[in-house]
Amino acid sequence: MPIDATAPYDDQNIFAKILRGEIPNKTVYEDEYALAFHDINPQAPHHILVIPKGAYVSWDDFSANAPETEIAGFIRAVGKVAREAGLVEPGYRLLANVGMDAHQEVPHLHVHIFAGRKLGPMLA
Ligand code: 5GP
Repeated sequence: MPIDATAPYDDQNIFAKILRGEIPNKTVYEDEYALAFHDINPQAPHHILVIPKGAYVSWDDFSANAPETEIAGFIRAVGKVAREAGLVEPGYRLLANVGMDAHQEVPHLHVHIFAGRKLGPMLA
């Protein structure tokens, strides 16, 4: 079910549980600001999720409310994950769904990294 991106943060969401180590994940990268792990239902040969360590519902919440050090650290981590996975050539796609119409399902900001096949002009 898509979520309301303006709702308060729910610390029982699945990615909060992954961050606390309560649910296993296939981690590909971790630092002070971000955790990256394989999506459980991959939509491309490479489908990695990158989430901030802080409690932010969505990109909207994060971009409005996170301290600049967290924003910079998170954006750098997303780039590093893609680079270290060897995705810069032939390329990758970033996607962050926000709210109901975009079909955001997990109410903790996550950036999808898709790669490993021709992705076409846009995802529908
Ligand atoms: P959204 O639609 O919110 O942008 O994407 C949520 C993503 O989280 C989906 O691609 C879904 O497969 C993934 N996902 C949901 N639950 C889990 C989980 O427990 N573990 C992992 N690794 N991915 C999950």
